[in-house]
Amino acid sequence: MSLLIVGSVALDTVITPFGKNNEALGGSATYFALAASYFNQPRIVAVVGEDFPEEHVQVLRTRQVDLKGLEIGDGKTFRWSGKYGYDLNERDTLATHLNVFEHFHPKLPELYRTSQFVFLGNIHPNLQLEVLDQISKPLFIACDTMNMWIENEREALGELIKRVDAIVLNDSEARELAREPNLARAARKIHDMGCRKVIIKKGEHGCLFFTPHSHFSAPAYPLESINDPTGAGDSFAGGFMGYLSRVGKVDDLAIRRAIIYGSVLASFSVELFGVDRLLSLSEEEISSRYQDFQEITRFDV
Ligand code: AMP
Repeated sequence: MSLLIVGSVALDTVITPFGKNNEALGGSATYFALAASYFNQPRIVAVVGEDFPEEHVQVLRTRQVDLKGLEIGDGKTFRWSGKYGYDLNERDTLATHLNVFEHFHPKLPELYRTSQFVFLGNIHPNLQLEVLDQISKPLFIACDTMNMWIENEREALGELIKRVDAIVLNDSEARELAREPNLARAARKIHDMGCRKVIIKKGEHGCLFFTPHSHFSAPAYPLESINDPTGAGDSFAGGFMGYLSRVGKVDDLAIRRAIIYGSVLASFSVELFGVDRLLSLSEEEISSRYQDFQEITRFDV
């Protein structure tokens, strides 16, 4: 079934203790789409500037990403820069230059309006709502968000949460959104805000999935070599939504499997700088790591 992602396509400058990436292909929609491309042909809605290198467009095309919704705006591409220390769960944002993103209003091509699976990447909640207003009856909508919107755009975010089936956010965001330090209680409060499926990512400690009636806990893959955590969350979301849209199901079991596929794609993504690892994966590597996850969570047969 069709899969739509709305988010950023960016030029990222990233410093980690293991190296540096300068103005590399990045952005939430990019990581998402490349991860999802192992399951489906995701449709991107985003904007880049006139300076966006053609070679990056080709990279997305090579992975069969549908770019009919990629607008070229007047001005420069969105740029983001971040720095990590040895605790790769923590990062400092060094710069965010919105550029063409500042006046962006997503416009969905006609064909995209009937997309069945929709992921609203981390952009202003009003823009996420604008996407929902252009779309008719999707089977499953999930969204991401970040602390900036939780702090400054609570009302719009509240509206959005009522209209999505699932929210994917990290532990500090969940605590802040629910104004509740305990994650199980935070998830319950988010259910009460109107969203029935809450997925809480805990960086290198895996992730939790709460519905009003069930709870699932996934470990993180014990990677020995991480070079660049940028995009892990978006790669998770891409693997998660990519799998769901391929099987066309959203029951509890499908979501649990999708969470593991999301974790698999996130674990690959951080092995190399930028999107490099997401370009060189094979089906065999993905299914082998999925089996590793089954093995490390097997407890009592
Ligand atoms: P993650 O590491 O999953 O949080 O995602 C990092 C990606 O998000 C980078 O590639 C950035 O280009 C992108 N990004 C960072 N800040 C923003 C923002 N304010 N709006 C949209 N995308 C952003």
